[in-house]
Amino acid sequence: MGRKIILIDFSRCIECRACEVACEREHEGQSLISVFEYQETTAIPLNCRHCEKAPCIEVCPTRALYRDDDGAVILSPLKCIGCLLCSVVCPFGIPILDKVNKVMIKCDLCAHRRAEGKLPACVATCPTDALIYGDVEELLFEKRKKAALQVVESSRSAASLKEFTKYFITP
Ligand code: SF4
Ligand code: SF4
Repeated sequence: MGRKIILIDFSRCIECRACEVACEREHEGQSLISVFEYQETTAIPLNCRHCEKAPCIEVCPTRALYRDDDGAVILSPLKCIGCLLCSVVCPFGIPILDKVNKVMIKCDLCAHRRAEGKLPACVATCPTDALIYGDVEELLFEKRKKAALQVVESSRSAASLKEFTKYFITP
């Protein structure tokens, strides 16, 4: 089975933070996705990237982190000892400490919802489709296809497109 991810289209995010609210609702009041503002012009939603070569899995001394059938990186609270190593090695500082239970928590791509055939709550809630969930290969292929179409649309004339393809594509 292919690995599934949430692809983020930063250009579509309107910073409404509906994703954060939906995540809070699904994860006992704690949002595991954060929307950051950059220079008051750009909003950057960020959740666990469920990395292909996840350093958090590699470093965990109790093997509390593992990958499920969809490729999501999951944290088992029963095995976690709250040592923070996963957060230290994560390039995005994603796992956070649940101070009440003294274990780490992180995005699980809404495992309980996926088990029922539903989308992760943030994806299902985003009003602008800034968050898209699916097979990584298919999503990236669609992205390349969209980029190719944009090249075609932005070429001023068939002649300039011909020049473009001659320059960039023809060996
Ligand atoms: S719900 Fe979508 S548009 Fe709204 S803040 Fe989150 S990612 Fe951005
Ligand atoms: S917690 Fe960090 S290192 Fe681990 S999979 Fe998520 S983004 Fe990657």
